[in-house]
Amino acid sequence: MTDVHSKAVRSKNMAAIKGHNTKPELSVRKALHNAGFRYRLHVASLPGKPDLVFPRYKAVIFVQGCFWHQHQCAMFHWPKSRTDWWVKKISANRAHDEAVQDKLRELGWRVLLVWECALKGKHKVPLQQLTVDISHWLRYGTSFMELPVV
Ligand SMILES: [Zn+2]
Repeated sequence: MTDVHSKAVRSKNMAAIKGHNTKPELSVRKALHNAGFRYRLHVASLPGKPDLVFPRYKAVIFVQGCFWHQHQCAMFHWPKSRTDWWVKKISANRAHDEAVQDKLRELGWRVLLVWECALKGKHKVPLQQLTVDISHWLRYGTSFMELPVV
């Protein structure tokens, strides 16, 4: 198959797929920054290259696409074609996620997953509430949490 996309378009598509650097993610980052939190982005030296790393709080955040990481929510549906291929693909993603989270916890990092559906769509959490929830987790949270809380 010929790749008809330019590099710029392709990286924009990949960003959308992975949920990285999307508008809602940027809003959350900005709100946390305004709340006084300092973080590093996409730290390649840590397992899974977490989206946000808060060294002072020994905490990392992954912003996860509900489809690619099989979130149990309304945004996830199995594709109707090539189902076997997708089951393999998505299952591999999930196995990878779990391995990454285990490794991070072994290294003493706490892990927060912020799902795409908390950031956009019908069930999104208001930015202010999301910021409060994340701030609270950073300061007092346990070793693992997901937002939205179900
Ligand atoms: Zn979701």
